[in-house]
Amino acid sequence: MVIDCHGHYTSEPAALLEYRKQQVAALHDPSKAPGPLRISDDEIREKLEPAQLKFQRERGTDIAIFSPRASAMGHHVGNAATSVAWSQICNDMIHRVCNLYPRNFIGVCQLPQSPGVPPGNCIPELERCVNELGFVGCNLNPDPSGGYWKEPPLTDRWWYPLYEKMVELDVPAMVHVTATCNPAFHTTGSHYLNADTTAFMQFLTSDLFKDFPTLKFVIPHGGGAVPFHWGRYRGMAQDMKRPPLKELLLNNVYFDTCVYHQPGIDLLAKVIPADNILFASEMVGAVKGIDPETGHYFDDTKRYVDGVPWLSAEDKRKIFEGNALKVYPRLSKQISRQAAAARA
Ligand SMILES: [Zn+2]
Repeated sequence: MVIDCHGHYTSEPAALLEYRKQQVAALHDPSKAPGPLRISDDEIREKLEPAQLKFQRERGTDIAIFSPRASAMGHHVGNAATSVAWSQICNDMIHRVCNLYPRNFIGVCQLPQSPGVPPGNCIPELERCVNELGFVGCNLNPDPSGGYWKEPPLTDRWWYPLYEKMVELDVPAMVHVTATCNPAFHTTGSHYLNADTTAFMQFLTSDLFKDFPTLKFVIPHGGGAVPFHWGRYRGMAQDMKRPPLKELLLNNVYFDTCVYHQPGIDLLAKVIPADNILFASEMVGAVKGIDPETGHYFDDTKRYVDGVPWLSAEDKRKIFEGNALKVYPRLSKQISRQAAAARA
């Protein structure tokens, strides 16, 4: 089985985007508040079939761990109530997708974060998504301010109530920022990769995983700058009298394969143990085009993993399937549950 651990619902019907526009407009003019969201199952199918589903079939991916469009989470927009309402709507859409295509998608939720609001505020929506909708994880934004980094680091006790709930529910988080409102950053080009790198460095300097030995994070986009600078991080940990990185972080921190070229995946696979790499493509998302140097889509990442000559068949099985089942402890049962629903 090939499990893509990083997919977003970027082929959402226009009515969802329109709903969000109205929700945001209503922050200044309540008369613009959206009515009930009306989207038919056929509208969902029409947009998904020629996008994520087509690419899954063409590229030999079996199932995607699927969450709302990350750049649209917009935690910095409005207030906590805005974020709760929008997160519920987006998570419900993911649930509908998983019901329509139970063999293709497993849900991961957007959290209703809001700048300055304690993360414990996300617990009810996390519980709803996991216990009622069958989701297996969440996306956690280390910077709800949208590029201004106003929250305490992910290792601060500020975040602990949410971590306690994640551990209790046995769900990991993918570290994932949303769009930036700081013009110094480009959302997917710099803000995403900066956040991945920043989260790793926060973990390196803390004893978070002493407090939460079973807490798990996936750092997407190949871990940002981390694998390329692995020597720098190892050296800094040593200078700080920290334990070796493997011992300090690699029971809790994992990297995905959303690196859109062969040399990048070669490096990732050389530096990071195969046990800590999860297959992912983030399609259809950040980069949509075809690489003129290869003739293949940049985000067709399975091809790169297949192309690493020194990974054994067993390593590849871990990257494509085994590690995802390990990092998302609820995944195996949820796949069976949804497959049974599909047969019924
Ligand atoms: Zn993403």
